[in-house]
Amino acid sequence: MVNGRTYPRYRCGGRFFGRRVNCERVPMLPAKVVRRILDDPRKISYLLIWRNDDGEVQEAVRVISLGPPPYLPTADSIELKRTDGSVSHIRAIKWSLPRNGGYAILLACPFCCSLRRALYGWEPGGRYTSRAQTCGWLCRRCAGLRYASEGGALVLRSRGRWFLALEMQYGTTRSDRPEPWYPYVFSFPADAPEAGLCACLPKNHPP
Ligand SMILES: [Zn+2]
Repeated sequence: MVNGRTYPRYRCGGRFFGRRVNCERVPMLPAKVVRRILDDPRKISYLLIWRNDDGEVQEAVRVISLGPPPYLPTADSIELKRTDGSVSHIRAIKWSLPRNGGYAILLACPFCCSLRRALYGWEPGGRYTSRAQTCGWLCRRCAGLRYASEGGALVLRSRGRWFLALEMQYGTTRSDRPEPWYPYVFSFPADAPEAGLCACLPKNHPP
């Protein structure tokens, strides 16, 4: 048991077996970015791209607001189109905030309908257990993703005297928590050539 949670099917002796893809290594669609697009009075499309550490584009979607559905005036329908032509539709729900009368945007997972601050574009899949493949934009749970911190992966396991002495001298032996994989946001098509996107079209094949 780690942090009060157990994974009986996947855990044995504190080690993880089976597929494991952390959500921090998967393109994240944050609700804040969607809100920025929805709040743009120009009502133009946007291009979101996710680059790897080498600057290569690993994922890209064109995002268009389709406006509120007639039966759900507090929502917006968002269309996300990948470069292979596949299209996903997402509901963005306005969520009233009690304190200042404002609102937040939450994204509805198309699979389980739960409202989330972010959705993810890849899921575990492929030949190797740590590989991912594209999927519809889903919540972390439906996409089968884990946090890097789950299972104590960010904590060095040994707690012997040597490590305690190390911690006393240099501080904690906990490694840094990885950042989510946020997109670059461009208005489309105006910013796309400036961003050099024409020369580095995404492959839509997760590494
Ligand atoms: Zn879900």
